[in-house]
Amino acid sequence: MKDHIFERRVRGHLLVAEILEGSWKYPSSGIGLRIASSMGGGAVLYRTELKFKSTQIADIQSMLQEIEICVCSNDYCKRMAFNPLTVTTDRDGLCETCYQENEVLQERLLQLNTLKKDQNEISLAVDRGDNFVISFDSIRSLTGSRKMNIYLKTIPSKEYLNEILGNLGQSTNTEYTVHKTPALLKEINSKITECGSKVA
Ligand SMILES: [Zn+2]
Repeated sequence: MKDHIFERRVRGHLLVAEILEGSWKYPSSGIGLRIASSMGGGAVLYRTELKFKSTQIADIQSMLQEIEICVCSNDYCKRMAFNPLTVTTDRDGLCETCYQENEVLQERLLQLNTLKKDQNEISLAVDRGDNFVISFDSIRSLTGSRKMNIYLKTIPSKEYLNEILGNLGQSTNTEYTVHKTPALLKEINSKITECGSKVA
């Protein structure tokens, strides 16, 4: 049973299942199946009322029989997906391709959001006449580490940077970068254009 591979063909797709290790390691949690599919992606299915010791191959086969697949929940897509009502999956009815495309899109939107925040901050600095920004990647404190930008009208001297680090309670070998804000703004703007065109 532990190494047994269970198979079922449904609507032209192959489902392949194996019993999750937890089923015999933690018998009180019941039986868990990991299901892979020729559609791509995977799912799990649990039956708490079954116990590994007494479960027969036929029980697992009947668990597999309960799994349905359906057309992807994206209107324009005709690929097949796990029906989330019949199996545990985080795909929410999306086929694997749509799910992955959605993930990439969400990531790009997040990236775009961060870029727009940066754009806002830097353009305010440019408007104020702060021509330089010192960026610290990790300023350590008791509560953790965080990023920090310090804006300046003129390029900072090494002594001045050390003074800032001292005031922040940081060692003088803390890493930082110094940028000209107009050039940085230009760079951010072009990244926004690039990222925005991929999202649109
Ligand atoms: Zn789809």
